[in-house]
Amino acid sequence: MSKNIAIIGSGFSALSASCHLAKAGHKVTIFEKNETIGGRCRQFKKDGFTFDIGPSWYWMPDIFDKFFAEFGKKTSDYYELDKLSPAYKIFFKDDTITIGDCMDKICLEFERIEKGSSIPLRKFIKTAQENYDIAINKVVLKPGISPLELVTPETVTRLDQFFKTISSEVRKRFKNPKLISTLEFPVLFLGAKPNKTPSFYSFMNFADFGLGTWHPKGGMYKVIEAMETLSKSLGVTINTNASVSKINVNNKKATSIEVNTKVLNFDVVLSGADYHHSETLLNPEHRQYSEKYWSKKTFAPSSLLFYVGFNTKIENVNHHNLFFDTDFEKHAQEIYDNPTWPSDPLFYANFPSETDKTMAPEGCETGFFLIPIAPGIEDTPQLREKYFNLILTRLELRIGQKVRNNIIFKESFCVNDFISEYNSYKGNAYGMANTLLQTAFLRPNLKSKKVSNLYFTGQLTVPGPGVPPALISGKLVADLIHKHHNN
Ligand SMILES: Cc1cc2nc3c(=O)[nH]c(=O)nc-3n(C[C@H](O)[C@H](O)[C@H](O)COP(=O)(O)OP(=O)(O)OC[C@H]3O[C@@H](n4cnc5c(N)ncnc54)[C@H](O)[C@@H]3O)c2cc1C
Repeated sequence: MSKNIAIIGSGFSALSASCHLAKAGHKVTIFEKNETIGGRCRQFKKDGFTFDIGPSWYWMPDIFDKFFAEFGKKTSDYYELDKLSPAYKIFFKDDTITIGDCMDKICLEFERIEKGSSIPLRKFIKTAQENYDIAINKVVLKPGISPLELVTPETVTRLDQFFKTISSEVRKRFKNPKLISTLEFPVLFLGAKPNKTPSFYSFMNFADFGLGTWHPKGGMYKVIEAMETLSKSLGVTINTNASVSKINVNNKKATSIEVNTKVLNFDVVLSGADYHHSETLLNPEHRQYSEKYWSKKTFAPSSLLFYVGFNTKIENVNHHNLFFDTDFEKHAQEIYDNPTWPSDPLFYANFPSETDKTMAPEGCETGFFLIPIAPGIEDTPQLREKYFNLILTRLELRIGQKVRNNIIFKESFCVNDFISEYNSYKGNAYGMANTLLQTAFLRPNLKSKKVSNLYFTGQLTVPGPGVPPALISGKLVADLIHKHHNN
């Protein structure tokens, strides 16, 4: 029977759930607090420049394909996708590594750095591919209710990979620090240090080297626009500037939500907003997790972000660039172990206009910079400015070009904005990390244990951080809701 379902938020997970629920015949209404939809993946345009506010790496294209295929659609019905060649560039103090768009090119680059390294690399990526197939086709499609979900004929033979770390496995096979950093990079998307991330997650290395890095022409927001078009075609109603301030519960059932002083009744409530915030919309007795619970969890980093319009082309850079020219271990400690502003941070620079002319006026460059930082640390205009100068100096040094006087404008985004824009716990950028003890059934539940018709989706629940997991999270929760409320 069709249910009247409210969805809080309009990020990837909420939009995904809305499409699946509407397809199953339910009446779905989205309430998004911000002026535009997309959550972490909004976009802003200024003076002919286009900036994706959050995600910029389009990895695991198969997950996007599968999502649209469930509705009889293809990504090409909505946006044009390019495989980036090269995929990205890593700057070290004394050299750069360029990651090509296929294993043969990547092997050549590994051989240049360390003779013979392409042999263990091919073996490592073969295991990573097997893990990818298991993770994506078997494990990740489970709702995280029971530990038994992790037990499949394939995973039991790989049990050791849940207890070894990606860091130790990489270090066993490679000695060159640059190759180690290159292979540890993909799991940073999961939000924890490589030495806290199980080696089973090497499937991220297959996503990187095996499946490649893609770019939707016009930016990541094209995917949000595609999902908006799809959801509306399925009958979903989307309200923006609609902040939900309360979930009312009666007799262990969510009965209504409060939005801009109105009380609206629904049969089922699903929150795609940050899980911690979603629970604060309930009276304390209906919350499942205490403040102590959240404070003990490993959160993904927050970020200091800059969006910069340059009136010149930036030389010697690619679309995606990692500046790994400082001590990663020290920076990681300053994020996870002793939360503080990093003394000498690694950073990421994205120049989408290098490959996509629609992103900047002719002869200009759109620059996006990201420094990972500890969630919850002090955020002031002075600190932002200090770090902008620091990374600009490093950029100029590594690329051998002065660009400081070519800045037309710059905007920044940091901890305080993550909190005010998304109600994010401590200003985390991309949710709760995937560590061994924060995997699958050990993550906050999709279904409330205290309120029978209340559900959660997104990067703090299963499967975890990132755009592809958010698409999957929306499907998992939609299936659960449909199963429990289809009568
Ligand atoms: C800077 C940055 C870079 C990233 N880079 C990548 C990348 O390159 N590749 C990748 O795959 N992933 C990346 N990620 C991660 C990815 O963007 C996220 O994991 C994903 O977008 C999260 O989607 P979500 O649906 O869980 O949540 P969100 O996108 O956060 O959506 C939650 C929504 O809920 C809304 N909301 C909150 N409170 C309320 C309320 N009370 N009422 C109504 N609405 C409310 C928020 O406004 C927001 O729109 C990045 C994230 C960030 C921040």
